[in-house]
Amino acid sequence: MGRVAGSRVARRWQPRAGLAVLLILAGCGGSTEPEPPAPLSRSSEHFEFESNTNRATEAEMDFGIQEAEAHWAAISALVGPERTPTAKITVLLDGDYRSDRTGAYVDEHGRIHVTRYREDLGGYFGPLAHEIAHAMRYTYWHTYNVGPWENFGYIEEGFAEYAAIIADPDKNGFPFYGYDPDVITGERLVRGEGIPQRVMRARHDLNTACEWQTYPLRASWFLYVEETYGRQAVLDIAFSTVETTDERIESVLGATLTEVDAAWEQWQRDRYAAIPNAAQIAAPYFAKFANEGICEEGEDW
Ligand SMILES: [Zn+2]
Repeated sequence: MGRVAGSRVARRWQPRAGLAVLLILAGCGGSTEPEPPAPLSRSSEHFEFESNTNRATEAEMDFGIQEAEAHWAAISALVGPERTPTAKITVLLDGDYRSDRTGAYVDEHGRIHVTRYREDLGGYFGPLAHEIAHAMRYTYWHTYNVGPWENFGYIEEGFAEYAAIIADPDKNGFPFYGYDPDVITGERLVRGEGIPQRVMRARHDLNTACEWQTYPLRASWFLYVEETYGRQAVLDIAFSTVETTDERIESVLGATLTEVDAAWEQWQRDRYAAIPNAAQIAAPYFAKFANEGICEEGEDW
C-alpha cells in the first residue's frame, strides 16, 4: 500500500459570484446561491486522483486512492516489475453515472475515468481494478502499436477482467457484482448463453453489445490458460511483442485454438458442477439482471 497524501485545494475567491450573493442576501433576506465546486485532489505513490466537490467527497477520494494502490500492487505482482509502468496514473472521478456516457474507461491520454454507480452496483470503484489493468498497459500499447492487431480487443478486455478478478476478487461491480465468477460464467454456459471464444476473438464489435456474456467468458478463458499453461503463457499472449494472430497464440500454447476453446468450456462447466447449489447461488444475479439483453447465435453473430 502506498502513502496517501493530499488535501482539498482552497476554493478561489470569485468576486462576481460573491457580490451577487451579497446583493441577493441584501434584497431578500436569506436566500443563497449553490456553492461553486471546489477542486479535490489526492496523490499517492502511483496515482493522482482528481475531482471536485460536486462530483466526489473527501471520503470517496481517500477510499478510492487506497483501493487503487492495493489493486496496483496486486496487478504489478501479477505482471512482474518489467511490465509495471513507472509513470503515475491519473484517475478522474466524473460524478454520478448517466446512461448517456461510458461508466468507466481509459482515455487517449491514459487517464482513468470512473463514475458513481448505485451502491448495490459497486458505487464509484467497482470497475477500478479492471481500468487500472488497462491503464498499466498504456506504455505497452504505444510501444508496439497494438491497436490494429488481430485478436487484440479480445485479449485487452479478457486480460483486464482476468487481472481484476485476481486483484479484486470481492468487487461488487460489473460483471460479477460480488458473485463467484465460476457460478456466473458456468450458469451462462448451462443456460446456452455462451458466445464461442472464436466468435468473440473475431467480432470485438460484440464487446459492449453483448457485455453480460463477453466480459465473464473471456476472463474465464484467461483463467483457464493460466491454470493449464501457466501464468507466463497468459503474459506471453497479453504482452506479445509480435502481432497476436491465431497462429501466435497457438504457438504460445502449443495447441490449436479449437482444442483450447473446447477444453476451456469443459473446464468451466466442471468447475460450475463442482460448486454445491451453484444454480441456486446464481438465481438472484440472473433475476436482478434479467432485463439486460443477451446476444444469440443466428441473430447477433
Ligand atoms: Zn475494459
